[in-house]
Amino acid sequence: MQYMSTRGTTSGINFKDAVMMGLADDGGLLLPESIPSLSPGDIAALTKMAYPDLAFRIISMFAGNIPAADLKQLIDKSYQTFSHSEVAPVVHKDGIYILELFHGPTRAFKDIALQFLGNMFEYLLKQSGAHMNILGATSGDTGSAAIYGVRGKENINIFIMHPHQRVSPIQELQMTTVTDPNVFNLAIRGTFDDGQRIVKEIFGDLDFKGSMSLGAVNSINWARVLAQVVYYFYAFGRVQRATNCQEVYFSVPTGNFGDIFAGYIAKRMGLPIRRLILATNENDILTRFINQGDYSTAQVVPTPSPSMDIQLASNFERYLFYLFNQDHAKVRNAMAELAANGRLKFEAEDMTRVANDFLAGSATRQETLDTIQAFHKATGYTLDPHTAVGVKVGKELTGGEVPLICLSTAHPAKFGEAVKQAIGEDPEMPPEFKGIETRERRCEILDADTETIKDYISRKALR
Ligand SMILES: *Cc1c(COP(=O)(O)O)cnc(C)c1O
Repeated sequence: MQYMSTRGTTSGINFKDAVMMGLADDGGLLLPESIPSLSPGDIAALTKMAYPDLAFRIISMFAGNIPAADLKQLIDKSYQTFSHSEVAPVVHKDGIYILELFHGPTRAFKDIALQFLGNMFEYLLKQSGAHMNILGATSGDTGSAAIYGVRGKENINIFIMHPHQRVSPIQELQMTTVTDPNVFNLAIRGTFDDGQRIVKEIFGDLDFKGSMSLGAVNSINWARVLAQVVYYFYAFGRVQRATNCQEVYFSVPTGNFGDIFAGYIAKRMGLPIRRLILATNENDILTRFINQGDYSTAQVVPTPSPSMDIQLASNFERYLFYLFNQDHAKVRNAMAELAANGRLKFEAEDMTRVANDFLAGSATRQETLDTIQAFHKATGYTLDPHTAVGVKVGKELTGGEVPLICLSTAHPAKFGEAVKQAIGEDPEMPPEFKGIETRERRCEILDADTETIKDYISRKALR
């Protein structure tokens, strides 16, 4: 399988290079040059498999130049760190199916992709005899999943900036209690935006980027999307076995359009998804796009589901490529228009195609908390606030025609404050959170200044 850029000037890239590259040289995002089309028989066989075997089969279709035995080993290793034997179990509550994606080491769904990406990076670097210094900024969740993805790995150091004393206590502890020598937590005296700006400035200094072998683990990496395609197949198989259904809905709480785009790929491969339900919080740019054809940026407002508080969805360009019938020039024009005007307008014909794939809705802060409370009352099951957004929207937009599978993206204890507000008690703690505040920590507090961070990296980077 070869990869190409959405913008059309980069193509013929193999899987290994696509993983190492992240963003394409022309500024676009990488996509496979074709998407395998599976028959109902293929799908029936796949969806019977255990999670790691299924992951191997799906990922193999896109990772042609990795020897099968190596790939199998990487995948098995990636999912052995999960605390549930099924990796991503499906539970049936209150008439809906909840796909629990939070059994990884940091208790959020990003582990499913980042455990795999960390192992893949280590493998590829070992093969090429190279090394990599990963740099990222986090507002909480992604940072810890990335750190757990590469802790202790050979030939990789990771530098993650978080805003000092502005992430939740549990998020800060999850990051700073990782004391492996290749992990560098930088608490910067500033905001998350400062962290993002510093990352951008450092990556913009191409000499520094090159001499330090800087790399990223952001959500546009194709390997992350690919690892997420797997659980759509897995969940479909489990629900089909329980209900004998022909089709399902998936409701996906969405921020950067990564998770739901993986569902879109699964649909294009032939998985019988009637519609993907896109669920947003008050930061509803993607819902406005789907329901009104209006993709225009607004101010980010803080919500109880902070991992979905985004302005521009970094994976959206990938969907545009398919929406525009794989017309690279149309994608280039749209991205230029978006950069210039902060908005995109769509034709009626485009919107008909969007409506064949997606339904969309959003949930306010109050609706999110009310959903957690009502669900808890009815079932005793505690939803995290991100999952609650998906449950609220999914229930609202469907009427039992086919089973509804809601993706659960985080363990409720990661967002304990909002959950407590909703149900009046603390959510149950996963065992590894207990006593975390007494563990050894490692973190450097630095000014939110690009030169200061560069200086720190150059002293600690692998060379
Ligand atoms: C990142 C994240 C999301 C959003 O996923 P996208 O791929 O950005 O759409 C939802 N919930 C949680 C808990 C997350 O960490």
